[in-house]
Amino acid sequence: MMEYRKMGKTGLQLSVLSLGSWVTFHKQLDDRKAEELMSVAYDHGVNFFDNAEVYALGESEKMMGRILKRKNWDRTSYVVSSKAYFGWRGKENKPNQTGLSRKHLVEACHEALQRLQLDYLDLFFCHRPDKTTPIEETVWTMHNLIQQGKILYWGTSEWSGVEIMEAHRVAQQYGLIGPVVEQPQYNLFERQKMENEYLMIFKTVGMGTTIWSPLASGILSGKYNDGIPEGSRFSLSGFDWLKNRWMKEDILNKVKQLAALAQEAGMSLPELSIAWCMKNPHVTTVILGATNVTQLQQNLNALDAATRLDEALMEKIEHIVQTKPALPEY
Ligand code: NDP
Repeated sequence: MMEYRKMGKTGLQLSVLSLGSWVTFHKQLDDRKAEELMSVAYDHGVNFFDNAEVYALGESEKMMGRILKRKNWDRTSYVVSSKAYFGWRGKENKPNQTGLSRKHLVEACHEALQRLQLDYLDLFFCHRPDKTTPIEETVWTMHNLIQQGKILYWGTSEWSGVEIMEAHRVAQQYGLIGPVVEQPQYNLFERQKMENEYLMIFKTVGMGTTIWSPLASGILSGKYNDGIPEGSRFSLSGFDWLKNRWMKEDILNKVKQLAALAQEAGMSLPELSIAWCMKNPHVTTVILGATNVTQLQQNLNALDAATRLDEALMEKIEHIVQTKPALPEY
């Protein structure tokens, strides 16, 4: 059974497992396969689909838009996001076609709505912080987009805790709607922001999180334990940076131990890795990525696996990965 969590202090409920389109839509999947994935997800209670202007340089949003149109699901039954910052024209990006200025944010929102064929975005993220635009300009723009009914909630992605609090400071100063959700990377090997840096924000202003790369791009599925399978993400051209980030001996050693532990616990490694993310109560939703229905179904099984991840198992996982951020002792 799907579980739904309130997104931070907002009234919005997101399914604890959701589906994203980075790398997969358009690059690896055609309309038919992407539609199959979205349908399986939706039928399992997934109500959030994640996207961004930069994914496949706009083609990912177009594909999702075509699928949503064909499926004709009740618009009130699902949540769609977009993110602005990187632009979608790639090497052709001109000044003003990237970043978090009023001009780019407003234009990026309009373009995303056109590509997705929607009247409004449920979530609109600032995909990265923009150190060259005054935070006042960004907060005012996001507030105004909400006032205009073009977006319902706004958030940040990979912002530092200080940057998020600066946005709140400005929002409070002018009586504006501040960011209510952050989209950070979170998995067994990337824990600093979720388990350290953001702790005070969760406690004070409150914040939902839509976390990404729960399988660290697939390494935490165990698929790379004996090399790089053909067609997998790390075999794709242009993704060497990602492969080099994850294909490291110490990481692979830990993944192998985790695989043995998962087997002992009667679950697959992707289930264990995703269920581990769900166990963190500060996680609103874990955004899944998948290139086929078998993967997606396996990952959705994490719902069941999470009920079996007890304290003893969590401790064994901790013992293997040794990645818990050190917190100051008070
Ligand atoms: P994961 O870390 O879960 O990686 C997903 C990929 O791993 C799949 O596409 C597939 O790749 C492989 N995989 C998934 N499940 C299995 C399985 N059961 N067995 C074997 N292989 C599997 O998530 P993503 O990195 O895709 O991130 C999820 C979403 O998060 C994105 O779609 C996007 O919406 C969002 N995101 C946001 C970012 C941000 O900056 N805000 C950055 C990155 C992602 P393959 O089959 O090709 O090997």
